Amino acid sequence: MLKVHSRCDLACDHCYVYEHADQSWRGKPVTMAVETMAQVAARIGEHARSQGLDRVHAVLHGGEPLLCGPERLSALIRALESGLPGDCELDLHIHTNGVLLDRRFCELFRAHGVKVGISLDGDRAANDRHRRYRDGRSSFDKVARAIELLRTGYPDLYSGLLCTIDIRNDPIAVYDALVSHDPPAIDLLLPHATWDDPPFRAGETDYADWLATIFDKWLADGRPVPVRTFDSIISTSQGGPALTESLGLEPSDLLVVETDGTFEQADSIKIAFDGAPETGTDVFRHSIDQVAEHEGVAARRRGRDGVSATCRACPVLESCGGGLFAHRYRAGSGFDNPSVFCADLKELIEHVQRRISVPRHIVPHAALRSIAAGQGTVEALTILQRGQRSIRRALITAVRDQAGPSPEWDLLRRVEPAIVDDVFSHPYNRVWAVGRLRHPDRRDDGRLAALACVAAARAGMSAALRVPVRDGAVFLPTVGRYEVPDAVETTVEIRSGEVTVERATAVRRVRFLDVGGHPLLVEDLDPLRDRHRRPVAGRLTDEQAGHWQVMFDAAWDLIATRCPEYVPTLTVALSTVVPVEGEPMGSSVRDAFGSVGVALPPDPETLCLLLLGETQRMKLGGVLDMLQLFDDRTSTASADTERLLFDSYARLAITDFRRRRPGGQTITEAATDVDVILASGSLTRLGREFVEEMRGTLDAWSA
Ligand code: SF4
Repeated sequence: MLKVHSRCDLACDHCYVYEHADQSWRGKPVTMAVETMAQVAARIGEHARSQGLDRVHAVLHGGEPLLCGPERLSALIRALESGLPGDCELDLHIHTNGVLLDRRFCELFRAHGVKVGISLDGDRAANDRHRRYRDGRSSFDKVARAIELLRTGYPDLYSGLLCTIDIRNDPIAVYDALVSHDPPAIDLLLPHATWDDPPFRAGETDYADWLATIFDKWLADGRPVPVRTFDSIISTSQGGPALTESLGLEPSDLLVVETDGTFEQADSIKIAFDGAPETGTDVFRHSIDQVAEHEGVAARRRGRDGVSATCRACPVLESCGGGLFAHRYRAGSGFDNPSVFCADLKELIEHVQRRISVPRHIVPHAALRSIAAGQGTVEALTILQRGQRSIRRALITAVRDQAGPSPEWDLLRRVEPAIVDDVFSHPYNRVWAVGRLRHPDRRDDGRLAALACVAAARAGMSAALRVPVRDGAVFLPTVGRYEVPDAVETTVEIRSGEVTVERATAVRRVRFLDVGGHPLLVEDLDPLRDRHRRPVAGRLTDEQAGHWQVMFDAAWDLIATRCPEYVPTLTVALSTVVPVEGEPMGSSVRDAFGSVGVALPPDPETLCLLLLGETQRMKLGGVLDMLQLFDDRTSTASADTERLLFDSYARLAITDFRRRRPGGQTITEAATDVDVILASGSLTRLGREFVEEMRGTLDAWSA
């Protein structure tokens, strides 16, 4: 944030620059010198090179930056642009009160691709409450005219509206007024306050109530415009990144450069005490890397370790992050407190989560860490498994919604939900549901009718259902394949739980391996198992099935001896094996959690490696289904990095197994890949934590 002008033409009484504790603006030059900006650019360029950044964000700010005038502003922008490395893109914004905005400024901004954000507190009444000239005149008409100029003449520059909340304003009038300006985004900002200088309020959660009223309208309107506060809560509630500095645990990447070239912390901290944002550094003597070591700057980059003990124990910490750093201040304890808006933030976040029906499959941080560190605890894998059941159920329900009522749904409705859920949990049901949703016009393959029959049989019911015959057979998942030659349809009859299929000439029942008392389904019948990277094998002969049992017994014993803690987690995660053809190799499918494809190797040791490696891939797929480890917004996010993460995570278990045998292997390759992933810049904060946890495990083994 580059302070290019330190005075303002308005005198808003809620302004944190002039109206709060810090009065350092009085000693600063009015305008930033072009030479200072050149030095700013050199420092940003130096930082971009040292950190390998291909993009930097800068905001021209004040005071009121337009008071510089177009000529000085043009010179400052050119100085900034020319100081950056050629391969580093500049994402340049300006935040203005808008009253001076005219075509000259807009042409200048268009020439340099500067995006314009405007402060507006809502309708005329709301805006006039604070945003006035020193003599009390309203600024509303001029600001509205500036927004109209942007909206109609320079829509490519219009980046959004920033609204400071006053709970005395009517929330719906404020929202409607903001939306009427057609902004590309809206920021709803809590007024600046600390525990020593608390916000105006009548009740404990006034701000939550005010924001929730807007949220409900915004949701009912179909979310017509991004509202960063709401989008950030939704994103973090679903494991994604925070989208605003004032919420979430993302490390702060904001620094301020004052008009005299001094580096300061986020200027909202000005509300705490006089001199609060100072760092004692400046662009002439210090690099940005040096400023980053300043205690105040570093404190805002420590994620959960940087918030108070109360916040660390808070269930909405991922979304809240303890609120804006400045709002935590209290004389005596400094910033080691929850936000002065704590009750509001908690209430608002829970309201948003309730209204958008965020699935309650939250992965607690400790569970995620245990998965990242290696095989994961049983509790953590149970959470993943529950999440997968939920996803399957949601997808199958979506198929029902798409296809409409049918006799099979009628039958399923009569079965106890827990049994239906269990029947739906077969890994390849998700493959089926995804296929149906993608290709609703394809002819019915009878899977749903088959599932309804299996559910009715498990419930001990009596029923009959017409089921399509495909490739001369009816396949009932987890029961078997019934050969029904020369038919397009048949009747499946269930009598007190017993299944008979009309005109069936043969039945091939599914088989289970007994691995240490855990029944492992050998899936060699399901027509949908054919999704692995290798051709799937046909039905195993009895002799082959016997050999599989012997091999799995030996492999299970080996795992239990060498890595006993893997046995319970394998038992939770692995329900199905699919025999595949070719060289000994494993394979897992993202849509079939719980199942791995195996080409049986000649020795149990290799079978252990296949099972452990593929189960790891499966677990990571389950994590990625629930949490966002990769940042969609980064240009560097790539399929290659994701593939590397899958490979490295699989190798974590393989390495663990190998290192425990005599003369264990080195782990250089796995560690190197982890470094590449961390350097890719494509991870979210959660993603970084995950990969750093992997790194911690590898480092511990190295040591
Ligand atoms: S809601 Fe309160 S306790 Fe929870 S993280 Fe936010 S500020 Fe901290």
